[in-house]
Formats: sequence, C-alpha cells, structure tokens
Amino acid sequence: MEIQKDEFNEMIFSRINKLIDDYQLIKEGDKIAIALSGGKDSVLTIHALKNYQMQSKFDFELVAISVDEGIDGYRQHGIDSAISNAELCDVPLIIKSFSEEEGFDLDDIYSYFKSACIPCGVFRRNILNKTAYEWGADKIATGHNLDDEIQSFLMSFSRGDTVKFSKFGPELDKIHEKLVPRIKPLWNTPEKDVGTWAVLNNIDIHLAECPYSNLSLRAKIKDFLNKTESQHPGTKSNVMESFKKILDVPSTRTFLNECEECGEPTSGKICKTCEIKSIISENMN
Ligand code: SF4
Repeated sequence: MEIQKDEFNEMIFSRINKLIDDYQLIKEGDKIAIALSGGKDSVLTIHALKNYQMQSKFDFELVAISVDEGIDGYRQHGIDSAISNAELCDVPLIIKSFSEEEGFDLDDIYSYFKSACIPCGVFRRNILNKTAYEWGADKIATGHNLDDEIQSFLMSFSRGDTVKFSKFGPELDKIHEKLVPRIKPLWNTPEKDVGTWAVLNNIDIHLAECPYSNLSLRAKIKDFLNKTESQHPGTKSNVMESFKKILDVPSTRTFLNECEECGEPTSGKICKTCEIKSIISENMN
C-alpha cells in the first residue's frame, strides 16, 4: 500500500507535538538550540520544531548549531544539508569546527584512540554545549530517535555503566549552571519513520555513513538489534518497555564539579575533554 505523504506527515508531526506537550519539553520564552548535523534525525528535528513553533500559542526562540569534526570526504555534505535545511526553516545557523576550536581535525587525531567516536563525541558535546551556553540556550534539542535510545541503553548496560541511565528519557534535568540540558523530540519516533519522512518529502539530507562508524560499539549493537528484530519481531519494543520501567525507578542525582583545568562541568576533577587533549598532546610530542 502506497504511503500518502500528507497523512504520514500529519502522523509523525502529531506524535512529536504530543511528546513535546506531554513532557512540556518546550516552555514559553525558551531559547532552544538544535544540534544540526545534517543527518536525517537532526533534519527532522529542525523541521518538527519549526512546525511546532508555527502552531504554538506561545513564543520561543530557535537556533541551530552544526559542528564540523574534520572528517575528509564525509562531513561537508552534512554541513551543506544543515545550511539548506536551516534556510528552509528560517532558523539561524551557527557553524563551529574542531579545527577552529581545538586546532586539529578528527582525521589528525583519531588513531590515538580505540575508536574515533571517543574523541569525536567528547569534543562535539563540549563544543555544542559551550556554543549553546554562550547563545543563552535553555535547552539543546537533539535528534535522538527511539532506536538510538534503545542502543544507548544497551551500550550503558553492556559497559555496566548504570550512572548513564539518568541520561535516558525525553528530557534531562539541569544539573549544572554551565551544562545546557537536553531534550529529545524524536524520543518515541522509530528510525524507519524518520527515513520514510525524508524520502516522502524529498528532503536534502546527509545519508553517507561516517567512515569511522563501523569501529564503534554503537554500530555493533545497532547491527545486533536490527538482525535480532528481523528474526524475533518485537525485540526492540521489549527492550524499550524494560527501559521505561527502569526510568521509573528514582535515579541517583549526579552532582557536577568544575574541571580544574578548563572550568567546564564534570563529574570528576578533570573533564573528559581535558583528559583527551592530554592524550593527544602526549601522542603529538
Ligand atoms: Fe564521530 Fe563516530 Fe559519529 Fe563518526 S560515527 S561522526 S567518528 S561519533
């Protein structure tokens, strides 16, 4: 049966709007920074928040932030897609890069780590948070979809990192003045619906796989989940249901300090960004 574009758009935007309303992800006067990589999830997020803003009875402000990690032959199309979709949605876009902020590209330093995703994720989160904080953002909206959330849950589970369970759910608490809390408007949107929306609407998105993604634990868990789901349908929703039960258990609140080196929020004495910078300088010297 052919899927009708208008009906599908109505379904997907209504579900996102309902999640925003149910969890009060956006409030009057909020300044929301959208993490816009140019991939399908972040592109749906900017379109969905623009749609919500146009239908909303109250005012709130949007900006998009893109971070260029410096991955040759991969990132530029993502940035081009971010520019065209931000223009289409009439949302201002701030572009930052590892090379301007840190003095190197990911391509220059990834080999010092077990996976390129370790320094990539740490620097990207750091740059995104600092940029959003400087802009005065109340929240950062990310494109995490239902599949991402299940993968993150299993990643933390497989690492025995139960502290990370407090990072699940459609909105995260503000736990430090300088750490802008996250909201996830696609939290209950399956990845396949995001893909269908992009295809039906002929949206300019960055589809290429990151050349480093096959090295990551996330890629392996994603592959495992997709294979298991095709052989045992319902696996993903069972994992999600278990995860929601855990979410209902009151979590231990994480208190953050300020990094002794750079002053950014961290759970230890030195933040992950400074730890990774010191590994890089040891290897470079
Ligand atoms: Fe960065 Fe890993 Fe994502 Fe590639 S797959 S963009 S290296 S986090």
